[in-house]
Amino acid sequence: MTRCGQARIMVINSTDIVNKMISYHHTTPTASAVLGRVMTGASLMGCMLKDKGNSITLTFRGDGPAGMVMAVADYKGNVKGCIQNPGVDIPLKPNGKLDVSGAIGGGVMQVVKDIGLNEPYIGISEIRSGEVAEDITAYFAESEQVPTLLALGVLVDTDLSCKAAGGVIIQLMPGAGDEIIEKLEKNAMALSNVSKLFSDGLSNEEILDLAMTGIEYDLFDEIDVGYVCDCSVERTERAVISIGRKELEEIYKTQEKIEVTCRFCDKKYYFEKDYILGRIEDDE
Ligand code: ZN
Repeated sequence: MTRCGQARIMVINSTDIVNKMISYHHTTPTASAVLGRVMTGASLMGCMLKDKGNSITLTFRGDGPAGMVMAVADYKGNVKGCIQNPGVDIPLKPNGKLDVSGAIGGGVMQVVKDIGLNEPYIGISEIRSGEVAEDITAYFAESEQVPTLLALGVLVDTDLSCKAAGGVIIQLMPGAGDEIIEKLEKNAMALSNVSKLFSDGLSNEEILDLAMTGIEYDLFDEIDVGYVCDCSVERTERAVISIGRKELEEIYKTQEKIEVTCRFCDKKYYFEKDYILGRIEDDE
């Protein structure tokens, strides 16, 4: 938080998160950049939630070859993600960068916030550029009326692992003055290639210093964030049962057990015919 209280900033190094994601989803470099950016953005948005149990789901429903891209973050910034087409492979952009916007395409971006109320908060906005950071910035401006500067980056190595990934978000508090806005915007130019800063070895604090050049600030929190999947046998069982008796009986005609793979962490769950049909009987 700036000492004047007019802006707050968060810096995340998401390299480990993206590498864990690659190990689960075996993504191409383009898919790694797409989902890596979405997960990094979701993690930052998750850290803004207030209470235990709160979560945020960020989904890009574009018409590009990546298909649907989704990340879910908890209130501590732990995140998981999935992409419909982890094999998306399109040519680089003329500037040599991975074509994130081409992979996402046009469509809508959806934010679902579960903050413990009966109904979750749902915000939908049009995908602006498909570069992810700009789309999230537009969402904050329109749906939450919070002026935001956001940089997200994923650098993929020649061995397909993530060399560096991270993000910086700066949000203005109500009543922020022109002077600080000018300074922040000027400093933001140094953040335009945030994954390179991390790959050059800069620490979160050093990147924070770059963003806050000429501005006094205080450091409040340091949080460890990771790729965390909270899937469980109980939740998966409920999902299987929700398919309904008729459909399940149909499925079990040809197989003795149903296999369900978690789309976030690839964990496999198996459900035997007698057990599941017995559970439905108990419910009826
Ligand atoms: Zn899982």
